[in-house]
Amino acid sequence: GGPTSVTVVGLGPMGRATAVSLLRSGHPVTVWNRTAGRADDLLAGGATLAPTAAAAVAASELTILSLTDYQAMYDILGPVVESSRTSGVLAGKVLVNLSSDTPDASRDAAAWAARQGASFVTGGVMVPAPAVGGPGAYVFYSGPRVVFETHEPTLSLIGEPRYLGEDPGLAQLFYQAHLDVFLTALSSLLHATALVTAAGVPAADFLPGALNTLADIPAMIGDGRELARRLEAGEHPGDLSTARMMGATANHIVWTSAKAGIDTRLPKAVKAHYDEAVTAGRGTENWTVLYEMLKVRG
Ligand code: NDP
Repeated sequence: GGPTSVTVVGLGPMGRATAVSLLRSGHPVTVWNRTAGRADDLLAGGATLAPTAAAAVAASELTILSLTDYQAMYDILGPVVESSRTSGVLAGKVLVNLSSDTPDASRDAAAWAARQGASFVTGGVMVPAPAVGGPGAYVFYSGPRVVFETHEPTLSLIGEPRYLGEDPGLAQLFYQAHLDVFLTALSSLLHATALVTAAGVPAADFLPGALNTLADIPAMIGDGRELARRLEAGEHPGDLSTARMMGATANHIVWTSAKAGIDTRLPKAVKAHYDEAVTAGRGTENWTVLYEMLKVRG
């Protein structure tokens, strides 16, 4: 047959972009949203509005959920399950949840879905709504491999799928870890901009160079494989960029920030990591020794 039918539940910016991408490729798309009005332009684009959430999941084997968090899924599907105890509306269905939440929430949801006879795949979309379905879009997935592979061609329309493994928590773990890098870098850019503007320097004189500093990080640490090997081996050879030297710099950033009257919480957190390494007697090792301070200590 032709393209398989897909249900999209949740029509925020991400769910809408997902539905548009599926419609563009000729998939029959059924949609449902708590606020029905958000479906209007999708209906003009060929989507079908399900009258109830139960009818939405009944319409397709594959349901993609794009909601604020996992609680929203229970708010929507909980009553559906309750009212269909005998008919088992979720039995044999595949739920792909692209909502953000914790890895544990994903694991609990997979177990919940299994009790309803449904398969559950966790996803984490790594681009904002305007980039969904376009070049450069990618999505982390975890859950049952056979189920993922069956629907991989359809899911590819959202972004390049990157399957991580059977553990349903993995996709959200990777999503959170990538956003850890992303959000911390964004805050550092704003903090540093506040530092120079407090001294009367226009932000435009600073930010282009600051972006170069971000872009220089790969040249410093490579593609990550060698750093990964060293972190896992606990090797932090101290010749250049020792924890003591970098920690002194972190301290200067705290004092300069305090003197400027701007927020000191972010540089203080960074300084604390270096202080801990120095106090542990590891100041002459490479800055990567901070990893030993940050990871679970066994
Ligand atoms: P929104 O928060 O804008 O969309 C929320 C959707 O969830 C709406 O359809 C809303 O319904 C529904 N919803 C929320 N709470 C409930 C509830 N209790 N019961 C029923 N429906 C509910 O999110 P986005 O579309 O921006 O994102 C969706 C997911 O994708 C989020 O988890 C987000 O973290 C993730 N994500 C977002 C990115 C982005 O750039 N926006 C990028 C990558 C991932 P209603 O319309 O009725 O309010």
